[in-house]
Amino acid sequence: MVLKEIKNIFHKELDEGYRKEEVDSFFYLLIEHYLGLERFVLALQPNLVVSKGEEQALFAALSQLRLHRPIQYIIGNAHFMDMDFKVDKDVLIPRPETEELVRWMVFELSAKPHGISILDIGTGSGCIAISLAKNLPEAKVFALDISEKAIAVAKQNAVDNDATVEFMHYDILNLDALATKFDVIVSNPPYVREQEKRTMHKNVTEYEPELALFVPNGNPLKYYEAIARFASKNLKKNGSLYLEINQYLAKETERLLRKHNFSEIVLRKDMFGNNRMMKGFDLNGVVY
Ligand code: GLN
Repeated sequence: MVLKEIKNIFHKELDEGYRKEEVDSFFYLLIEHYLGLERFVLALQPNLVVSKGEEQALFAALSQLRLHRPIQYIIGNAHFMDMDFKVDKDVLIPRPETEELVRWMVFELSAKPHGISILDIGTGSGCIAISLAKNLPEAKVFALDISEKAIAVAKQNAVDNDATVEFMHYDILNLDALATKFDVIVSNPPYVREQEKRTMHKNVTEYEPELALFVPNGNPLKYYEAIARFASKNLKKNGSLYLEINQYLAKETERLLRKHNFSEIVLRKDMFGNNRMMKGFDLNGVVY
């Protein structure tokens, strides 16, 4: 079949459930992934004939997209901080908001004259830890996750991106303290309340790992509580804590950090104008 024809079928089948530009970008990602073709090829050679096998791969992807399976899980890959990360059902797909958190950290932490140590809590695909390690080559980066399957994905991502990160298997809800003390702790923990689930798209609720996303309505900051408690014991003096947060719970999150003696708290919005990132200093940390 001719490439242009397949693109028309994609629109015919998918335009009901997605925006047109989204369908275009799925199609381009898929021809790049399965055919190794860049998007301009379609403009130059709309009548390019696709082999039977390639055609089958594209149509198999099309039927997954009809079921709202995220494109990143279909091709097994997500783009984050100009790098490629393997993703599967055991890890959250890296979000652009999280990229903003990483850029904020890189901007602030590259000014540090000496090598610093950073811990990423709930690393998932490893996207935060690995991109920090790549962009702050002097830093020593550690990461932990409760999911061994996620750690396996993250380790592979570190190898693929040629980054050095020390991964550890821990549950932050049951982790009192570690022997290592850190200059910086970062986390993008689960923060979506069950009540917010109905406002979310099927591609998230039906395919992404619940473990990485949801928290009970009655205790939405349970991970933040555990992280703040852990951080106040495991940060060096003047160490900093960076968090991705639930946009509706900025005040509550700030209050929680103050309760754990964090100060100079800064709240930042993401590109969509939502309260999304928070930083605090542990001025009372232990001197090492
Ligand atoms: N921002 C993610 C979402 O919209 C949630 C990430 C998280 O819970 N840490 O699905």
